[in-house]
Amino acid sequence: MTEYVIKLGRTKTIIASTLVSILFSVIITLLIIFSLGIAGIKLKVAVGLLIAVTAPLIAAPCISWFAIGLIFKIHKLEEKMRLLATYDYLTGVLSRRAFMEQSNYICRFAERQGLEFTLLAIDLDHFKKINDQYGHAAGDRVLKSFGKIMRQISRESDLAGRIGGEEFALFLPATNAEKATAFAERLHQAVRETIVKGNGAPITFTASIGLAYFPKTVNIEKALSMADKALYSAKKNGRNQTVIYDAELEN
Ligand code: GH3
Ligand code: MG
Ligand code: MG
Repeated sequence: MTEYVIKLGRTKTIIASTLVSILFSVIITLLIIFSLGIAGIKLKVAVGLLIAVTAPLIAAPCISWFAIGLIFKIHKLEEKMRLLATYDYLTGVLSRRAFMEQSNYICRFAERQGLEFTLLAIDLDHFKKINDQYGHAAGDRVLKSFGKIMRQISRESDLAGRIGGEEFALFLPATNAEKATAFAERLHQAVRETIVKGNGAPITFTASIGLAYFPKTVNIEKALSMADKALYSAKKNGRNQTVIYDAELEN
């Protein structure tokens, strides 16, 4: 039915539903008049009033049942699309776009208020090997469990996002380098304690973290590129560790 409405367009659908309503009214009117064989003015007025009430009583719910149904359907779809655009379907953390948008918003707020924040860039170690060894579905389960860890150990005011494949970011507002380092350590610990089902064999994994602290705000793209440099250094130093951003990493 929805396809017909879309095919017809708004104006034609309204004209069609109005015609259907009129048709309903005429059929009901004729049915009543012919079945009762009416005579006398008072009776005609009474029957006229009865029809005036009965016809829309039948026609309106029929038409509006469909129209209101469509509105509810659209509302549900809108909600579903909003969730799909905001959250990553596999890990349950923010999608890249939503993470960047929300972080940017908080950055601007932090700038006005003079608030500090820390950004963590996270990358799972040797993830390709996990896929190769246990299969893509098992790799997906690792990503899913890492998403769960991030959601569990972060505060509600923190932002957790999936930046790409096995790369994630955590935006910690009003958090200094010391607190963020303790947070990153809890993250490593939680990952260490996590065992994911492989094909018969248990999978353990590790993550590397680049930590960048901003006592004065910068834009999120710049912050992410600085945290990425620290992450790169964590990879180079042997993985499964956190490196704090330092200006020397620029060289
Ligand atoms: P490194 O420690 O240097 O980060 O090595 P790595 O193997 O983790 O990094 P690399 O960039 O070489 O490989 C990332 C892999 O992640 C390759 C890609 O197939 C896999 N990947 C990306 N997205 C997904 C996904 O949604 N599901 C699964 N199962 N694998 C994914
Ligand atoms: Mg990796
Ligand atoms: Mg990577």
